Amino acid sequence: MAGVDRNRLHELRRAEEQRFLDIHPKSVALFERAKATLVGGVPMNWMQRWPGGIPIFVEEAAGAHFVDVDGLTYVDFCLGDTGAMTGHSPVATSDAIARQARRGITTMLPTEDAIAVGGQLQERFGLPFWQIAMTATDANRFVLRLARHATGRSKILVFDWCYHGTVDETLGILDGGRVRSRPGDIGPAVDPNTTTKIVEFNDVDALETALAPGDVACVLAEPALTNIGIVAPDPGFHDALREITRRTGTLLVIDETHTICIGPGGATRAWGLDPDFFVIGKPIAGGMPAAAFGMTAALAERLGGALGADETDVSGIGGTLTGNALALAAIRATLDSTLLADDYARMVPLAQRWTDGVRDAFTARGLPWSVNQLGARAEYWFSPVPRNGAEAAAAVDEDLASFMHLWALNRNVLLTPFHNMALMSPSTTAADVDAHTEVFREGVAAIT
Ligand code: PMP
Repeated sequence: MAGVDRNRLHELRRAEEQRFLDIHPKSVALFERAKATLVGGVPMNWMQRWPGGIPIFVEEAAGAHFVDVDGLTYVDFCLGDTGAMTGHSPVATSDAIARQARRGITTMLPTEDAIAVGGQLQERFGLPFWQIAMTATDANRFVLRLARHATGRSKILVFDWCYHGTVDETLGILDGGRVRSRPGDIGPAVDPNTTTKIVEFNDVDALETALAPGDVACVLAEPALTNIGIVAPDPGFHDALREITRRTGTLLVIDETHTICIGPGGATRAWGLDPDFFVIGKPIAGGMPAAAFGMTAALAERLGGALGADETDVSGIGGTLTGNALALAAIRATLDSTLLADDYARMVPLAQRWTDGVRDAFTARGLPWSVNQLGARAEYWFSPVPRNGAEAAAAVDEDLASFMHLWALNRNVLLTPFHNMALMSPSTTAADVDAHTEVFREGVAAIT
């Protein structure tokens, strides 16, 4: 890799690891205690994925910042990997949650909030009919079932190195033209080659070939890949995707869980996409577990029978806690009060400022590295900008990435663990962005 002395990188890494342990004595002690009862010392395995060897234990979070148990304050550009894109604990959402928590959390019956939420989702994202899920994973799983039911086709298609949650059918990659389980996939029920076709993002010819036999129920796509770094669609790619899916009777599912960073109505509104199903999770309830999926009127009509059938409780769609009163109150308050046009008018320029800071750091050192912005989100690469998932996966440099993360963390800046990514919230400030720029410039200088 241009300009990086690997020996020096490893030496610096060891020093940063020591510094990390030195400044986090209370987190270290809590982690030791946690190991007695929690697998890997964490309540959920992803929490081990932070640089520094142990997770930082959080004392409290508000807006774009959090404080750890050692009393250190961080600028948070991870924002719960988009779950806290509204900023931590937005006031209207917290108040609504507190209010509803005292008035019944879950009854398996609707509250009036549900009607308000249906209207908000319709207005924001354009699709006429909606259902609630607990998480984006859930919503995607339900939509895949509904798509197979509606079309009578068994396969689905996703793009190489996509991520749509812990959804079995989507946990594959392309390997020499064949679909196989992606690295890390634990205990797959079946070879994903039997359920799933995969093509490269932006490859219209491959898409055409894959959909031609007419055996694919739906294409499940992010408008831009955001889970193997940001990979933008080529001009015309979405038009081609919609035209080919329509011509081959394949449904189009757009998963906006991350691309809500583009604007209040996601890419669907901003770019004029026209999906059959729409999925959104993570930030819509300000961080409370809640997600939603929308569908066209034609699909709602076609699927109404299935969703209202006698056996619907064991249909594979739904869950006891799904659509609970607390979640609906949280979605209503969140969509009413935040992630609105005014918020994006501040967030997007901040992402631009962050991007400029990173690019300037690369330019100053003459590095052929890149940074990509997508609305309120931005991500850097230790390579030129990739055009599809395979190029993006090949460009991942774990050593460099985790070093930069640790360097930033030791200087009170948190990035998203699985990416070199930063997300702006309505509470993020120019000073927060400049803090990152400063730390990042020093980090790049240290390793090159
Ligand atoms: N869809 C997309 C596009 C995502 O990025 C993710 C999570 N990173 C999910 C779905 C799954 O979300 P969750 O883990 O909240 O179910």
